[in-house]
Amino acid sequence: MLNGEKKIARPLRWGMVGGGRTGQVGYKHRTGALRDGTYQLLAGAFDLDADRGRDFGTNLGVAEDRCYATYQDFIAGETAREDGVEVVSIATPNFTHFEITMACLKAGLHVICEKPLFFSVAECDAVAKLAADKGLILGVTYGFTGHPLVHQMAAMVKKGMLGDIRIVDMQYTHGFNSGDDVGAGEAVKWRTNPETAGPTFVLGDIGTHLYYLSEVVLPHMKIEKLLCDRKAFIATRAPLEDHATVLTHYDNGARGRLWASSVNAGNMGSQRYRFVGSKASLEWSDAHPDQLIYEVQGEPNRTLHHGMPYLEDESLAADRMGALHTEGLGDSWANIYLWIAQAIDARMRGDEAFLQTHHYPGIEAGTEGVRWLENCVRSADAGAAWVEYN
Ligand code: NAD
Repeated sequence: MLNGEKKIARPLRWGMVGGGRTGQVGYKHRTGALRDGTYQLLAGAFDLDADRGRDFGTNLGVAEDRCYATYQDFIAGETAREDGVEVVSIATPNFTHFEITMACLKAGLHVICEKPLFFSVAECDAVAKLAADKGLILGVTYGFTGHPLVHQMAAMVKKGMLGDIRIVDMQYTHGFNSGDDVGAGEAVKWRTNPETAGPTFVLGDIGTHLYYLSEVVLPHMKIEKLLCDRKAFIATRAPLEDHATVLTHYDNGARGRLWASSVNAGNMGSQRYRFVGSKASLEWSDAHPDQLIYEVQGEPNRTLHHGMPYLEDESLAADRMGALHTEGLGDSWANIYLWIAQAIDARMRGDEAFLQTHHYPGIEAGTEGVRWLENCVRSADAGAAWVEYN
């Protein structure tokens, strides 16, 4: 169980690009990073609007001269200081991730970047090479995979408690884009334009969360082929999709069905996962992250609760609040940030043995997310055809 005791020798000197006052995801980063004293927020280029960014940063307690107008000024200013930041989080629209990540890595800064990481696997490979050459860590904020019961599912699958996995059924939907985009805010505008969002809308925006979580729970299963059908119900969003379904064939013979949509009007269920094996099934939703439904064929169904001693060690190690008390998204993000901090700390100490076994969403996870999107787009653009996964 986690209780805030320090896990690394000293806090990492941390800065942010994006995630300003009007940004949707910025506070989730700060909620995660500032929880355990593993990061100290010292600088930022928080906003495209420099004055608003400075006002916001100083309200967060950042010194005024370390609230920069642009990410270029941020890098120049911080690398010129002996006490400059060591790690930077990038919480900006998708089209800026590659450029800002490359610039930060070149300047010798560890990076924590939002998903979808970049537009193409080729860009991911270029970043992976630069990070490796520089000896720097890149973390990806798949913020839902810090939930303790996600790791309970992974441990139960690993122990064979489900038998052979046969069916992977996943859904991340909401209805916030059911209407048209007239008068829509910035966050909708950049998400529905291929120049700023990349080759997908909902597949990259929410579908990648499903895909990564399934990789955490089912690391032994690889995709052989998939079929993706995507559609823009609001025509102005084409060629990007506001709705997609993906059928998957896995290398162990399992079948998958995934639904990502932002036009599921009225739906507030968010994410739902069902992993079906030959003996039993698991079902989990981030709407009730404290509960895991465990159904063994022929036996009464069970609801497992987070923090209970009957859970696997991997789940209890990620627990913060203890059973009986609500554990939620902020706790999940805190785990992701802690695991990335431990990776950066290990790299700084030259502790490669620790890194060999330490789990956190890194460049490989980000790359696999982008690879999955590329395959989905290839299938969809071929008329929802089955494509071999590559
Ligand atoms: P947003 O449009 O709400 O906010 C973007 C923020 O970045 C704003 O503060 C804006 O001023 C700032 N910004 C933009 N360009 C900048 C630049 N060049 N320099 C400095 N600041 C800049 O976007 P959002 O919804 O917060 O999404 C941001 C990223 O986070 C996207 O990649 C998105 O996919 C991702 N996201 C991830 C999650 C998650 O659960 N991991 C949730 C939401 C969004």
